[in-house]
Amino acid sequence: MADLTVQSKHFLSDKVERFTESVIREMTRQALLHGAINLSQGFPDFPAPAEIKKAAQDAIANDINQYAITWGAKNLRNAIARKMKDWQGISVDPETQVTVCCGSTETIVSTLLAVCNAGDEVIIFEPFYENYGPDSIVSGAKPVFVKLRPPASPDGEWTFDERELRSAFRPHTKAIVVNTPNNPTGKVFARAELELIRDLCMEFNVLAITDEIYEHILYDGARHISIASLPGMEDRTVTINGLSKTYAVTGWRVGWAVAPPAITNAIRKVHDFLTVGAPAPLQDAGATALGLPASYYQNLAAAYGARRDRLIPTLEAAGFRCFRPRGAYYVMTDISAFGFADDVSFVKYLVQEIGVAAVPGSSFYNNPRDGAQQVRFAFCKRAETLDAAAEKLAALRPRKN
Ligand code: GLN
Repeated sequence: MADLTVQSKHFLSDKVERFTESVIREMTRQALLHGAINLSQGFPDFPAPAEIKKAAQDAIANDINQYAITWGAKNLRNAIARKMKDWQGISVDPETQVTVCCGSTETIVSTLLAVCNAGDEVIIFEPFYENYGPDSIVSGAKPVFVKLRPPASPDGEWTFDERELRSAFRPHTKAIVVNTPNNPTGKVFARAELELIRDLCMEFNVLAITDEIYEHILYDGARHISIASLPGMEDRTVTINGLSKTYAVTGWRVGWAVAPPAITNAIRKVHDFLTVGAPAPLQDAGATALGLPASYYQNLAAAYGARRDRLIPTLEAAGFRCFRPRGAYYVMTDISAFGFADDVSFVKYLVQEIGVAAVPGSSFYNNPRDGAQQVRFAFCKRAETLDAAAEKLAALRPRKN
């Protein structure tokens, strides 16, 4: 067997040796294995809206079952352009500026493959959604991390240092990835912060790639601003979004990029040869989803606010220090009170002994030590699920070393 391993290794690319499997997805498998309540991977355990499920069923019954146009069905692209105009005031030509992909996951990697050359640098705020690291590696780029610092008080904001950000813009910087509302911190970037990023992008001729998948999941009056809406960013932003989080359909795999025509062309080429297209009937249903009335989004944010406010007191009572999110559906916590050597051993204990799955903080950092006393919980779950988790978490006790 040893020889076989050596032989197999010979066939692997250098790239794949530089990243590991997703810890987030692994935690869902662990939850299933141990019969634990799954507050790890961010997917809802409640139903998607009835009207969009019906739209998908109708699309299949009406034989929308063959390839859509490779860069996206026309009715979905039109709906994306309309929604960008209505919500962010951004004018988009659906014929030349929209590419529909298999989820925002494929959209991000297609975008990086379309714009990066070997040796280019991509700036990423850290902690970061774990895909961005491997995405950069696969596209040949070098990730350069800029720290988001946790707030001193549970109600404070995660912040970055302006000088640290500026020093990350260097001769080989091609792009900066901005994820707002942010996974895992729940930070919603303020206008002044986005303007600073805009100014640096213009000064250093850098592209902004923004992941806005949690656009509608906002709390405490927070407002989402697309960086593409800031003057000067129209021709240097790729705005990425998708159906998954807003419409509770993470398994449909429909996402998209909105970008200037020349960049769209490049993204479309990569996307076409990677996957040809996202599922046609689900794109058709996506056009229905994007046409839902404004009340749908208000209710969505309110329902998530209630879930956040259900989980946080439970976590605090169990001994976690919580960083209160302003957006997205995760809460980052500090686990120092439990006296564990690191996040991975704590999460293992949590899933095996307590019966709750969470994501170790280190999977959001380049240097695992930086996340060694942090753990992320997802609260995109039914009240019953959160209550069941609360019952289990009550068995946890802070301990002194
Ligand atoms: N964004 C989700 C999370 O952070 C997971 C998305 C995925 O697994 N593709 O948990």
